[in-house]
Amino acid sequence: MSGPLPPPAFPPPVLRFAPSPTGLIHVGNARTALLNAMLARRAGGTFILRFDDTDAARSRAEYARAIAADLDWLGIAPDHVVRQSDRLSTYEAAAETLRASGRLYPAYETEEELELKRRLQRARGLPPVYDRSALTLTAADRARLEGEGRRPHWRFRLDHRQIAWDDAVRGPQQVDTASLSDPVLVRADGSFLYTLPSVVDDIALGVTMVVRGEDHVTNTAVQIEIIEALGGRVPAFGHHNLLTLPSGEGLSKRLGHLSLAALREAGQESLAVAALAVLVGTSHAVEAVESLDVLATKVELSHISRAPARFDPADLDPLTARTLHLMPYDAAAERLAAAGVGGGEAFWMAVRGNLARFDEAGQWWAVVAAPMAGTVADEDRAFLADAAGLLPAEPWGPATWADWTKAVKAASGRSGRGLFHPLRLALTGRERGPELAALLPIMGRRRVEGRLRGGEA
Ligand code: GLU
Repeated sequence: MSGPLPPPAFPPPVLRFAPSPTGLIHVGNARTALLNAMLARRAGGTFILRFDDTDAARSRAEYARAIAADLDWLGIAPDHVVRQSDRLSTYEAAAETLRASGRLYPAYETEEELELKRRLQRARGLPPVYDRSALTLTAADRARLEGEGRRPHWRFRLDHRQIAWDDAVRGPQQVDTASLSDPVLVRADGSFLYTLPSVVDDIALGVTMVVRGEDHVTNTAVQIEIIEALGGRVPAFGHHNLLTLPSGEGLSKRLGHLSLAALREAGQESLAVAALAVLVGTSHAVEAVESLDVLATKVELSHISRAPARFDPADLDPLTARTLHLMPYDAAAERLAAAGVGGGEAFWMAVRGNLARFDEAGQWWAVVAAPMAGTVADEDRAFLADAAGLLPAEPWGPATWADWTKAVKAASGRSGRGLFHPLRLALTGRERGPELAALLPIMGRRRVEGRLRGGEA
């Protein structure tokens, strides 16, 4: 065969997370980001972070930086970052195209006039849908209004037809755009509302699938009309249920509800937050995972429930602990090094099952590697000194503990708690902790002997 290869039957998907940088993102935003990132990752596709920052008054660079840092923390750094504020000329061009084809028309009503119309409609039992009176204005009417100093805002003329799509979460959807007001795309000051830039970017970036919260379902019908009016390809859509506080109250970025930054500060593991944010409110059990790749295998948009899902931060404590208990050394190594924790893989595997928070690894490392006085009760002094005398010569390995305690048991006649509790207390100063069989070789003979004899070692 010769000639160029045909395009792949299923080109890799392009997905995006499109927050407005107007506050710190919360777990509900994380749900959206993670679903998109993991669908992209699983299929070898592209994940784009797009800052919807056309609202100059409310968007802040520091929130954009914080959002990028949050995604990094979650382990879903994007393949590309796009800022809508860099792309205003593209939106101008799209608006011009729509004006030229008669789909974007000027309207001059003030907010007060619109409110009055809506009130009258409601009083008559009619839905408060824009009456399109601006479409009846003649050129002379417009000139007069502009002569009075009015500047137009611009509305998209909907087609008033049934828009249907097969939603990846909700199944077949249908919205009659005759039931909607023609949306304002451009404000009187020339700035863009969210709708048009979002559509223009989804077309320009080749977005193949839009996964977002169900608060956008109605937007989708409007956006499909705009995409078609601009000659773009309509992507697939999936609208997931929203997360709420345990009280059922909706999450608010503005009110700082359940921000990722706060959960990070509280010592929660990002993988636990990710697992809860993705799996809560689905037919899949919420469970700890070893990696995002494993979590990605559990993502199934059609298994997301339709009802809002409560996100209870109290569920994170056990999930963070279980995440640590499962965490492979590779995933922990860099953080251990940054915290000055040594001992390599052997130490991590010995302690991870005892951690409720990652920083407790540092506390166990201090127990193992920093000088500490042995905790020796008077009645155990002689027993522990004898046990010290029975310590084998180094090198020590995984069998050392069992060999040694067998010898101590035989010599002392002690067993069970009477045998092990004083040893643990002398060696670690704690009632409970990781398997001493694993810690003993890391501590080494000099330290173990010193502590058994009640000295600082
Ligand atoms: N900026 C929009 C939001 O935060 C994005 C919605 C979308 O994904 O299109 O809700």
